[in-house]
Amino acid sequence: MTDATPVRDYIRTIPDFPHAGIMFRDVTTLFADPQGLRRCIDELVAPYRDADIDMIAGIEARGFVIGGAMADRLGAGFLPIRKAGKLPGRTISEDYALEYGQATVEVHDDAIAPGARVLLVDDLLATGGTAAAGLKLLSRLGAQVMGCAFVVDLPELGGRRILEDLGHPVHILCE
Ligand code: 5GP
Repeated sequence: MTDATPVRDYIRTIPDFPHAGIMFRDVTTLFADPQGLRRCIDELVAPYRDADIDMIAGIEARGFVIGGAMADRLGAGFLPIRKAGKLPGRTISEDYALEYGQATVEVHDDAIAPGARVLLVDDLLATGGTAAAGLKLLSRLGAQVMGCAFVVDLPELGGRRILEDLGHPVHILCE
């Protein structure tokens, strides 16, 4: 790997995880490489350098890794969007559908000042269900959502279209 190696080349694919037939895009190999991680964060923050972002909202758990680094780079704060039952303070929650069953994401109800300029981030966009639930939480908190950023998009699953139809610009590093 060199300075010119694209972000996608640091990501490995693990077949049949977590179920038979799923090709899991594993970003731990990207996070483990200093040049890869630096490049990933450089490219994720590039469109927002002059956007006066107040908070990065990162989705548990890989969104915490990139979101924390992006917040530091942009001089913003960090807001964790967590799975149900993990946050200690008073929360609001949103349910969303999974392939089998459902899941819930939560934020502290006092996590941001109303009108704060917030960017939603996660490692990967698939159906868009997780990100759409996170966006609902942000809008319930009164955030001004400035966009959504992901390292990887799985375009055949249509998540990008769903987020764009909700009115949010989407920034993605690779498909
Ligand atoms: P969605 O809600 O868009 O269908 O799924 C996206 C969520 O599932 C993200 O939080 C993402 O971390 C996780 N996810 C789904 N598939 C993969 C995958 O192949 N690789 C990684 N790293 N995360 C995945």
